[in-house]
Amino acid sequence: MPIKDCKLYIVGIGPGCPDLMTVAAQQAIMESDYVIGNTTYLDQIEPLLPGKKIITSSMGEEIARARHALELASGGNTVSIISGGDSGVYGMAGIVLEIAEKDGADGDGGAETGTQIQVIPGVTAANAAASILGSPITSDSASISLSDLLTPWEDIEKRIAGAAASDFVIVLYNPKSRNRNTNFGRCIEIVRRHRSGSVPVGLVKNAYRDGERAVVTTLERVLDYDDFVDMHTTAIIGNSESRIWGERIITPRGYHRKYDY
Ligand code: SAH
Repeated sequence: MPIKDCKLYIVGIGPGCPDLMTVAAQQAIMESDYVIGNTTYLDQIEPLLPGKKIITSSMGEEIARARHALELASGGNTVSIISGGDSGVYGMAGIVLEIAEKDGADGDGGAETGTQIQVIPGVTAANAAASILGSPITSDSASISLSDLLTPWEDIEKRIAGAAASDFVIVLYNPKSRNRNTNFGRCIEIVRRHRSGSVPVGLVKNAYRDGERAVVTTLERVLDYDDFVDMHTTAIIGNSESRIWGERIITPRGYHRKYDY
């Protein structure tokens, strides 16, 4: 994919291992004078960083980080601001574009106002976790973040109930954090009201990086693994047709309805 001549790249670097970073993401970082991100993500791309000016920032400092990136880019520097996975999935793309919009930049890549912004996609945790589990999201799915830091919990509950009632496969991001230990259990309780206990659930921790572990279980057993689930885990709850095959989960696409095989 050709990269446009642009000053600010919002880069998704994938789930953790260099092989799962896109060539476009690597090119954007290599072209940049500045690379901005939190230390976990910068560690993941260390081999690309020699010679770069590095700006580290902590979780929770996303607004300051986004502003800083825009300022450096409008000052004539080429800048990459980094997110894990895909930068548009609970990542930095939203807040950077929101601030650029607020600052009065145009939304056409910034050609008129100077700072050009390009979002470079990455392999998101849903895809990374799904590949380890087999094919759990081969039918319609809904992604829900259980973090209620920026979204009211009542809204999250409504979305869980809606997705569960509509038989979507459900991908859970941010199932837990240090301060939010109960959200995962509450979510499972809501899904159980709509879905049989035998429905498969996959839990993937640290997909494609050190400490990778996966568990395949069912909706009625998943809370036995409550301690396993942490902020580095993605959970995938199957739909009513999903099934367990050995250590994998298959969600049929629907070929069986049309073909003999
Ligand atoms: N932008 C990221 C998501 C950020 S939200 C992406 O597209 O993947 C952070 C959540 O993503 C974590 O709480 C976890 O649920 C999930 N996650 C990110 N990387 C992961 C990985 N390597 N393995 C499992 N889950 C991961």
